[in-house]
Amino acid sequence: MDRIDTGRAHPARVYDYVLGGKDHYAVDVEAGDAMIESWPSLPVSMRQNRLFMERAARHLAREAGIRQFLDIGTGLPTSPNLHEVVQRERPDASVVYVDNDPIVLRHAEALLTSSPEGRTAYLDADMREPGTILGSAAVRELFDPGQPVALTVIAMLHFIRPPDDYALVRRLLDPLPPGSFLAISTATADFAPEEISRVVREYESRGIPMVPRSAAEVGAFFEGLELVGPGLTQVHRWRPEAAQEGVAPAEVAMYGAVARKP
Ligand code: SAH
Repeated sequence: MDRIDTGRAHPARVYDYVLGGKDHYAVDVEAGDAMIESWPSLPVSMRQNRLFMERAARHLAREAGIRQFLDIGTGLPTSPNLHEVVQRERPDASVVYVDNDPIVLRHAEALLTSSPEGRTAYLDADMREPGTILGSAAVRELFDPGQPVALTVIAMLHFIRPPDDYALVRRLLDPLPPGSFLAISTATADFAPEEISRVVREYESRGIPMVPRSAAEVGAFFEGLELVGPGLTQVHRWRPEAAQEGVAPAEVAMYGAVARKP
């Protein structure tokens, strides 16, 4: 049976629409347009988020030497996907993708285009069930339990309401060996408060939770970990490159950071 619900907007499909993708429905276009009307910088912010994912993943593979990636809230395939970024640096890298949306599952073949030396797997699962994720055949088959893992949770935690948020990240991170990493990006209203509160209302009115967080609240996800430079910043200020030039703070509603588990 097709579990895809075309009667209401879904985060993965709205994001795909705003980023210029093609895997969405009329309800998602309506939602995305209402959000862009509330805040015209939304496409800039989402695009900068995606570019943060690329820079963070590249850093983890290239500088940190990570070969195992657990990506929670993967979203619809968008070029380049995380495995393409990290396998460019380390062809033998393994990536386990996790999302709970049936449309992401339907498009998952596009995430399974691993390099011959590495591997990718897709897991249809919810972050609210960390035990299912860590105990899955995908994780057991692709990962060496003695080797560090990069846990990447990109543009997803704003869909998880407190008080579950911190504990869920911890339950995924705690079993990973020392030298593992955590990379997060998540929404904030710190730089465009009125506009973001309008976008929050657009999500919430469609039954989608949306929780913007302060810098201190995002920083709390990293308690006990060692942030890598430059620490917690807006996503476009994290190791910026040419594509980040000329982006104004008020155009980006996402914090991002990468940290090492000691
Ligand atoms: N990480 C991608 C996509 C972000 S969109 C990127 O930054 O480009 C957020 C994704 O999180 C969506 O695909 C949505 O389906 C997924 N998601 C939301 N809640 C989730 C949950 N509880 N468990 C797993 N995935 C979830």
